[in-house]
Amino acid sequence: MPSDVQRRVPGRGSDGRRFVGPSDLHLHSDHSDGTEPPAKVMAAAHRHGLRTVALTDHDTTAGWAEAAEAATSLGMTFIPGMELSARHEWRSVHVLAYLFDPDDAVLRALTDRIRDSRLSRARSMADRISRDYDLHWDDIVAQTATGATVGRPHIADALVAKGFVRDRGEAFAGILHPASDYYIALYAPDPVTAVAAVTAAGGVAVVAHPAGRAGLLPARLTDQMLAAGLAGYELGHRENQEPALSRLRTLVERRDLLITGSSDYHGLGKPNLPGENTTADDMVARLIALGSGSAPVYP
Ligand code: AMP
Ligand code: FE
Ligand code: FE
Ligand code: ZN
Repeated sequence: MPSDVQRRVPGRGSDGRRFVGPSDLHLHSDHSDGTEPPAKVMAAAHRHGLRTVALTDHDTTAGWAEAAEAATSLGMTFIPGMELSARHEWRSVHVLAYLFDPDDAVLRALTDRIRDSRLSRARSMADRISRDYDLHWDDIVAQTATGATVGRPHIADALVAKGFVRDRGEAFAGILHPASDYYIALYAPDPVTAVAAVTAAGGVAVVAHPAGRAGLLPARLTDQMLAAGLAGYELGHRENQEPALSRLRTLVERRDLLITGSSDYHGLGKPNLPGENTTADDMVARLIALGSGSAPVYP
């Protein structure tokens, strides 16, 4: 990290333009598994007092234009983002990607493949579930915005609509749980490939909720991800747990990596509220300085 970046005045990006905190860099719309369109997500963020926001739908950039327009019209700075699906052995790893080139061919091929796999996987899970429950593919389509990245949350919403479970949480704890007979894994690249693709597209890669229930990734994999360009960790997230979180904080401080904090807002799909975790101004400035594939949109 060049020292001029570290010394940069908080509140200014690499481009010298001003942004203002508080900043929440992890929000979902109905282009993936949030329940609201991008403009509503931005309105919710604004109501909660945020001034800089990123939209990070799973494996898609389709919401960027609407979100940027809505955010800036409300006086907020918009940072383009995405939450890229990856997998290490049995566990899913989510890589937050910021300020990358949305037209990068390698990254596009990766997200296209993940989204194709998500669709066939959701259909296959629906087939399995339909053997025991009166639930059909149309019910899931009805819960999914056109063109959205489909996932288990949409199956959960269909199960709720049919009255088989109370909410997404109950669906994930049972019918949709990885240990359930109905579960099918989706294709996702390994985390090193994911980080390398984001970085090569001019983006900034940050591991989402890195100290969740599954615990820390193996040290060797972490080293490989850092070598591939991993920039930081989302230490501020409600799913992070001790003692993994403290161990990770030590690593992040020793290597002077980026630290982000965010809500992972999903509208009505999760209890998480915009601004429940935020990212410090100096970290936002460093993130903006590192990203070269696309630019923040200022109000
Ligand atoms: P998928 O990528 O299709 O396997 O589904 C994982 C997604 O489900 C994640 O992006 C989470 O946002 C969401 N999710 C996981 N657990 C829960 C839960 N207990 N309640 C609501 N959403 C959840
Ligand atoms: Fe999600
Ligand atoms: Fe996630
Ligand atoms: Zn998320």
